[in-house]
Amino acid sequence: MANFFDTSIEFLKGVGPQRAALIQKELGLFTFGDFIQHYPFRHEDRTQFFKVAEINETMPYVQMKGRISHREVIGEGFKKRLTAKFADETGELELVWFQGIQWVLDKIKPGVEYIAFGKPNRYGNKLSIAHPEIELLSTKSEKGGFLHPVYSITEKLRPRHIDSKFISKCQQEILRGAQTHIRETLPASIVSEQKLITKKEALLHIHFPQNQEWLIAAQTRLKFEELFYIQLRLIKMKLVRQEKFRGQIFNDTSILTQFYNEHLPFPLTEAQKRVIREIYLDLKSGKQMNRLLQGDVGSGKTIVGFICMLICVGSRTQAALMAPTEILAQQHYANLKKYADKMNLSIALLTGSTKKAQRKILHEALQNGELKILVGTHALLEEEVKFHKLGLAVIDEQHRFGVAQRSKLWQKNADVYPHVLVMTATPIPRTLAMTLYGDLEISVIDELPKGRKPIITTHRYDSHRLMINGFIKKQVEEGRQIYIVYPLIEESEKLDLKHLMDGYESISRAFPDVPISIVHGKMKPQAKDYEMARFVKGETKIMVATTVIEVGVDVPNASVMIIESAERFGLSQLHQLRGRVGRGADQSYCILITDFKLGAESKERMQTMVRTNNGFEIAETDLKLRGPGDLMGTQQSGALDLLIADLGKDGHLLQQARDIAISILNSDPELSKPENRMIKAQVESVKKAAVNWSRIS
Ligand code: ADP
Ligand code: MG
Repeated sequence: MANFFDTSIEFLKGVGPQRAALIQKELGLFTFGDFIQHYPFRHEDRTQFFKVAEINETMPYVQMKGRISHREVIGEGFKKRLTAKFADETGELELVWFQGIQWVLDKIKPGVEYIAFGKPNRYGNKLSIAHPEIELLSTKSEKGGFLHPVYSITEKLRPRHIDSKFISKCQQEILRGAQTHIRETLPASIVSEQKLITKKEALLHIHFPQNQEWLIAAQTRLKFEELFYIQLRLIKMKLVRQEKFRGQIFNDTSILTQFYNEHLPFPLTEAQKRVIREIYLDLKSGKQMNRLLQGDVGSGKTIVGFICMLICVGSRTQAALMAPTEILAQQHYANLKKYADKMNLSIALLTGSTKKAQRKILHEALQNGELKILVGTHALLEEEVKFHKLGLAVIDEQHRFGVAQRSKLWQKNADVYPHVLVMTATPIPRTLAMTLYGDLEISVIDELPKGRKPIITTHRYDSHRLMINGFIKKQVEEGRQIYIVYPLIEESEKLDLKHLMDGYESISRAFPDVPISIVHGKMKPQAKDYEMARFVKGETKIMVATTVIEVGVDVPNASVMIIESAERFGLSQLHQLRGRVGRGADQSYCILITDFKLGAESKERMQTMVRTNNGFEIAETDLKLRGPGDLMGTQQSGALDLLIADLGKDGHLLQQARDIAISILNSDPELSKPENRMIKAQVESVKKAAVNWSRIS
């Protein structure tokens, strides 16, 4: 017999082929198995009854017993509504309906006892509930209460009567049939050690919990399982790689010593030295390195990357650096070229806009080994790009490449994989690092170069412009340079450009004698470069720009970063932008300008920026505020497509899951012991499902 969970949802009562097709399209649910994993995103508490006097507008949903009186239809047209008083012995509140008025009037009789359920709101001094659910009070409804699931649906489903209630009914039907088919997917030892409930219990109570405790137990069980199998897979990948893949051995440090003695531009921080040691140990270990390098903006990751490249070039191999965007690639190239030139090492840039003739020369030099260092975008991954011997691939991720792309770089060497060093542009929270980069070793630069003064950040409103201009004037007089950054978001590109131009004009008017640069995405690259160069040389004092400068050049003399419409930036981006100043010895400032009216979340972002300069702390807050999907951009969402676990909140559970996965794989890498048979089966069935999915989509 075919697996129960592989049954198509069209065979559910009330679904049929047409609705099934719609559900597949809208929710991506094909089988009973998919459907049962469409977990409710919240529950409504139908176990408790409140007295009317206890109710206030901060409560999410409430259920009360009482009688209805004073039904009244008021207003005209779209303002027409039905109001009714709902009262118990403690007080009364108002119920309101804007639609289906006649139907409600027919259904609801004064004087009879009802159960009302809905979300209370306050209008003036009156509490009211719009479109409450109303049900006759009966012994059944009073006793049989449990937490009602609420499912996410889409607007297209509603007209076909596929709503949360409908999904709930289907879940009930599936669960009834599933009882004999639900397999346990965690070994009994883990279930008992972690005090988890069984899979069967969890699937029932995630949908229809008897009470809050059961709901939490069900969530914990399913979250643990989800995180556990992700970690297991990542750690297994890491072990397999360490076992299987030989690494090139680099232990000739003569070039490195020369660089240290003659050209090191500044003493390295202790954190930089520690990280370089960690990497060097990998490079001479005989195993292939896969390491993530994390560090705050300005912590000096570039020089660490370069030093690692020197180690591998010193052992007669080549190094590559891949960046996610053309601008970033150019910036890295410019930075590394300074060092490479001093060491007489050939270095080249390869991006999508590299000319064909140029490419040909480059490809040749790469293949015969003359070219030692190649910097570029994902153009590096193209088939024609062949190395003589690639020793190290450095990947600057800015959260944009996925595991699959990373592994493409490995294949640039036929015989032995290159070592891989992944650098993140900004710090990412631990939970995210463990999930996105759980298959890598991690190094952290947790120290900024000496002499940096913490940047002073303030939050100001439009009304403070005069004061801000006064501040700009003083800074310019002291010889400092200033960035003024405007958001540029694609949907409203035109408006943003106008905003930027208006800002530029008003700054020009306020400072007629100060040379000002402007840079934005609509300019020709040459014009952009020209303006950037003027600012870098100090010829212009103020740079008015869109976020292109987020990844722009390093100007140590710039000491003020003003961010306009700061509420439109995410926390990580604000932190990145702020990192453009504070690179010299002077005190630096960041001024966030926003509208006076701000949502709670925007306010918290501004407060976080004002409170701390610590990129790791900012990343944690960003994760809590926005969730992992937004944080990482869309390209990697696959890795973060969690059914139930939340990396912002479930850090503790994730750590436990990871620890257990590590200890199991350490003692049984092949999962061949009898007690791990269940884990192995689960890993394999997930693998199979993944294959099926790729076929469907
Ligand atoms: P990020 O980690 O953000 O990539 P960078 O590598 O761009 O940081 O370094 C930021 C700035 O700090 C650069 O101007 C770099 O030359 C400088 N820098 C890096 N390490 C040190 C150090 N140990 N001492 C002084 N300055 C340093
Ligand atoms: Mg950098």
